Amino acid sequence: ILLEEGIIFKTNVNVGKDITKKELEKEYDAIVFATGSKKARDLNVKNRDCNGIYFAVDYLTKATKHLLDNTEEISAKYKHVVIVGGGDTGNDCVGTSIRQGCASVVQIEMMPKAPDERLQSNPWPEWPKICKTDYGQEEAIAVFKKDPRIYETTIKECILDEKQNLKQIKTVKVHFNNGKLEEVKGSEQILDCDLLLIAAGFIGVEDDLKKNFKLETSQRNTIVTQLNSYQVKDKYFTAGDCHRGQSLVVWAIHEGKECAKEVDTYLMGYTNME
Ligand SMILES: Cc1cc2nc3c(=O)[nH]c(=O)nc-3n(C[C@H](O)[C@H](O)[C@H](O)COP(=O)(O)OP(=O)(O)OC[C@H]3O[C@@H](n4cnc5c(N)ncnc54)[C@H](O)[C@@H]3O)c2cc1C
Repeated sequence: ILLEEGIIFKTNVNVGKDITKKELEKEYDAIVFATGSKKARDLNVKNRDCNGIYFAVDYLTKATKHLLDNTEEISAKYKHVVIVGGGDTGNDCVGTSIRQGCASVVQIEMMPKAPDERLQSNPWPEWPKICKTDYGQEEAIAVFKKDPRIYETTIKECILDEKQNLKQIKTVKVHFNNGKLEEVKGSEQILDCDLLLIAAGFIGVEDDLKKNFKLETSQRNTIVTQLNSYQVKDKYFTAGDCHRGQSLVVWAIHEGKECAKEVDTYLMGYTNME
């Protein structure tokens, strides 16, 4: 559709090529940062550097590329998989590892389980804060006959074999005490695990981008714009996840369209874009 509309994509020229800030600024009259928010939150646990631990997005991207281009995947086949993080990305990892033929799958989540039904304190038309069972968890229930999620739990340590390969993990129960996360004494457990996937959230824009373009960032590490605007400063604009934080495709499309209008106005002094 965009090609038919007359948009010229320069990606073929620049794919895989580093473009310096100087080159970008010289060649273009406006620059939109739409670089997403895929910088993953890491784990700070003993033996984090061992073999068998991957970030969820790297795992999922390779799984998809493998299906499309038959490139190398990180396979969960016959493996005991533990996923750290109970969100949507974690759910995608549950579904993917089951489809790859894992031996078992557990998804650990720090927060307590949400109620199955709305609480009185959360009436319609508020967004319902209830426990959602997504497709990955449904597949786990169908295959392994149990919900893969363990709540109020975090990972404490990775246990390795003599070749530095991950074999098990030590978990511990946690709870919030006056807003502070505390471990529950004596609640440690050992789980078999030879593939650990980190799906513990995203922490905003990449450091390099921020540093090179001297971008101001918010507390959530998103690019700061002028008030009610997609303009950052001068010829810089931003839209999508790097502007609003990890979100949804519909929001990225909406922000892209609104940002394009502002860029048009910036370049032309007016816009006919709707
Ligand atoms: C695992 C996962 C599952 C998701 N599932 C859903 C879903 O089911 N439904 C939904 O609505 N949303 C989903 N989302 C969220 C959705 O993917 C994002 O909200 C959306 O893609 C944001 O679009 P964007 O254009 O802002 O950023 P992105 O889609 O992240 O695109 C950013 C692009 O910029 C490129 N880039 C980054 N830095 C540079 C650089 N320096 N130079 C050149 N290129 C660069 C990246 O390679 C990437 O291609 C999911 C997200 C994840 C991580």
